[in-house]
Amino acid sequence: MNGHDELRMMLGGYALGHLTPAEEDRVRAHLDGCAECRAELAEIQPVADRLGLVDPAAHADRPLPAPDLGDRISRAVADEIEREGRDDLATARDRRRRVARWGAVAAAAVLVAALAGGVVGRATVPQAAPVPTEPIAVEVEDGGVTVESAALVAHTWGVELRLVGEGFADGETFRAAFRTTGGDLVPAGEFRGVGDASMSCFLQSSVLREDVTEVVVTDDDGALVLASTLADG
Ligand SMILES: [Zn+2]
Repeated sequence: MNGHDELRMMLGGYALGHLTPAEEDRVRAHLDGCAECRAELAEIQPVADRLGLVDPAAHADRPLPAPDLGDRISRAVADEIEREGRDDLATARDRRRRVARWGAVAAAAVLVAALAGGVVGRATVPQAAPVPTEPIAVEVEDGGVTVESAALVAHTWGVELRLVGEGFADGETFRAAFRTTGGDLVPAGEFRGVGDASMSCFLQSSVLREDVTEVVVTDDDGALVLASTLADG
């Protein structure tokens, strides 16, 4: 598994076509022998493909990504710009590498990184109308957790879970995922518990609403925290 960590970082750039031919060859050679990276690429590629087809003029109609995720990427971009400013000798190749690195975090992050970082200079305009949400019934398995509201948003690029609740153990990492009609469990991101305080999470996936049959949130140990079996989308 030589170079796995480094090559895994390049998958976002690979999916978006941002790598040099030599780098693409390295990634391809690694993919041949690494099922983990192949699985991650399979997850990232549909979002990257959709980005490639995006018409810049249509961007104004695009729903903005979750506010917290956007903030995180914005900070990463700001940090990157600061680093670039300090490093006058950085080559174009280095810069391209850094851009590629942002893209590999997760499918949702690829989307945001490309909007915020990869397509620098393009303004995104908040959509005028509120998006329609679909309330879902949630079964809570973790006695400490209370769900105030849970809803899905069927975006054109994938489905989003909007979760408001409290009692998610302070400092613990929770992971959301969508079960597809094919039975696969596709990650929709993670969030950190803040204990008794109320928290809102926007968890996004490139899976389309119509292909989702179940929403699952698990804790640090992989134990089920809450689940929702969905009606047909
Ligand atoms: Zn690998």
